[in-house]
Amino acid sequence: MTDRIVRSLFLLLLITALLFLSAGCGGQTYEETTFFAMDTPVTLRYGTSGGTDAARTASKNAGTLLKEWESLCSAHDPDSALTVLNETGSLTTPDERLAGLIEEAVRVSGITNGAFDPTLGPLIRVWNISGGGPVPGEDAISEALAHTGCSLIRLTDGEIRLADPSASLDLGAIAKGAAADALAEAAADDGVPYGLVSFGSSMTVFGEKPDGSPYKIGIRDPDDPASVLGYITLTEGSLSVSGDYERYFEEDGVRYHHILDPGTGTPARSGLRSVAVLSPSGADADALSTALFVLGADQVPNLYNDPSLSFEAVLVTGDRRVILTNGLDPARFTLANSDYSVETLPLLELCFPQEP
Ligand code: AMP
Ligand code: MG
Repeated sequence: MTDRIVRSLFLLLLITALLFLSAGCGGQTYEETTFFAMDTPVTLRYGTSGGTDAARTASKNAGTLLKEWESLCSAHDPDSALTVLNETGSLTTPDERLAGLIEEAVRVSGITNGAFDPTLGPLIRVWNISGGGPVPGEDAISEALAHTGCSLIRLTDGEIRLADPSASLDLGAIAKGAAADALAEAAADDGVPYGLVSFGSSMTVFGEKPDGSPYKIGIRDPDDPASVLGYITLTEGSLSVSGDYERYFEEDGVRYHHILDPGTGTPARSGLRSVAVLSPSGADADALSTALFVLGADQVPNLYNDPSLSFEAVLVTGDRRVILTNGLDPARFTLANSDYSVETLPLLELCFPQEP
């Protein structure tokens, strides 16, 4: 077996172990299918309470959809639309899903002051985290950063252009969330009454289970990612997790992980070990989990108060605190590891103009 297959099987086992359906499943029945796509195992659990036909059709259609998403957004596929954009600097008639995703990526990048940045391709290449490093020199980091920033993306008259020949987009922090939504929507259109689409770190649930129960999602312990530190319930929308244990290499006893801080050009050190974001939008859950990880707990209230975003979050800190945002009912989170404590994020004091 190749390393890649072994890694995939291991990931699959982890995901299976970490994705818990609510106790007893309430008599719900599912058709379960697994694909390997977008560099990760993808698990579909489609409800079959009205019969298996819709779930089977939707699962088959999902294979086609996944190939389409890969051919749009993969940074590794030499023939993908994203690779063509990165190599030629333009796409004159882009697929509307890719154009829409890039537009949303630019929007979230703006709101997060660039903490989420879809133009980090040159920096990601320099770090080569998945390939095991080594740690790049400061000059290489500065040179890479000189070709990043959303001002290099031009979206006009239906075209996408990159204003710098060395610019390169990487949608690794947003595409899985968007694809999870697309698959869930397609399954609902195919008549699947309820179900879940999981890319491991990004998932979307849809419909309502016959017994109305929520899905129970394990949040991994960053110190021991094969076990969970707690569970969060999800009845609708998407959940996405970014953690420093997902992809990394070590050099001289230091961990260099895959979530890069566009401000420093190095792996983010915000005091957070993982961030889970819940949002009605899969793309936003995915992009925001990355952004919040970079920004750190102190910056979260600013974003939380931004009316153009809708999300809740579970932040896991390096000193083993689990911080929930204010709108998240604490009853939805169950702690499973007593080494951690749970608290709620303090609300920002809003300043209103004084009456004259
Ligand atoms: P996620 O696991 O969703 O946090 O996404 C991390 C992946 O997105 C990395 O493997 C990179 O491909 C890319 N990435 C790393 N740092 C950032 C960032 N600050 N903004 C956007 N994409 C990033
Ligand atoms: Mg992400």
